[in-house]
Amino acid sequence: MLRDKYYMNNKQMIREILGINSPIMIAGPCAVENFDMMEKITDTLVRKGIRAIRAGAFKPRTSPEDFQGLGIEGLKILNQIRKKYNVKIVSEIVDAKYIDIMYENIDVFQVGTRNMYNYELLKELGKTNIPVILKRGMCAKIDEFISAANYILQGGNKNIILCERGIRSFDQSTRNVLDLSCIAIIKSETKFPIIADISHSLGRKDIYLPVAKAVLAAGADGIMVEVHNNPEKALSDSKQQLSLKEFEKFYNELFSSANDA
Ligand code: PEP
Ligand code: MN
Repeated sequence: MLRDKYYMNNKQMIREILGINSPIMIAGPCAVENFDMMEKITDTLVRKGIRAIRAGAFKPRTSPEDFQGLGIEGLKILNQIRKKYNVKIVSEIVDAKYIDIMYENIDVFQVGTRNMYNYELLKELGKTNIPVILKRGMCAKIDEFISAANYILQGGNKNIILCERGIRSFDQSTRNVLDLSCIAIIKSETKFPIIADISHSLGRKDIYLPVAKAVLAAGADGIMVEVHNNPEKALSDSKQQLSLKEFEKFYNELFSSANDA
């Protein structure tokens, strides 16, 4: 286990990658659907001080019938948004063959839950110095999660942020079960920064605020949340995306209570 082989100052590393203070907030739509929606969403997020925008161009969906993302066209839209707003763009990589084209267009590569075990992809990302957000596999043990991160680290890439995104369980009350203990264990046993994706963990917006508070209390370095200008019409994950108004309320309440504490 390479847990302590490399020293990383989490806060400094996150600042270097995302250019902001922690806790970081990575927000944006599930998928880039067109330029206009990206512009509307980014405009609101930037006004709230968000500097890291998420949006998938490649969407690994459970059903092949579902929207698969705009692919390279989506990356180009993200690049336009990045330049217009001077933000960092986080987007999912699904295959090592896209490393170069993604590198030209976005800033932080997300490895999704389905690819946490894709060791060949992780090894290729390890050969770069591109920041990687590695999501926990939906059925991955914490040790397997750490080992997956070590595949990237072993290649020499230290720019890794882990992301707890919920694990599968018998309980259908939430989309997945967000594992707070994973956050605490990663913080106490490794040097990796870790954030929590409350949207894919919970799949329901009504409990984002208390869960986000719990995530930060458990020691997370940040939060990822899905935001859409018209969630009802979103091409993917419509139920879990906050509207722009809902996001502003969520953000204000989260950080005003954090300041009160
Ligand atoms: C996503 O963040 O767009 C996503 C698909 O998440 P996950 O891989 O955690 O399901
Ligand atoms: Mn989504």
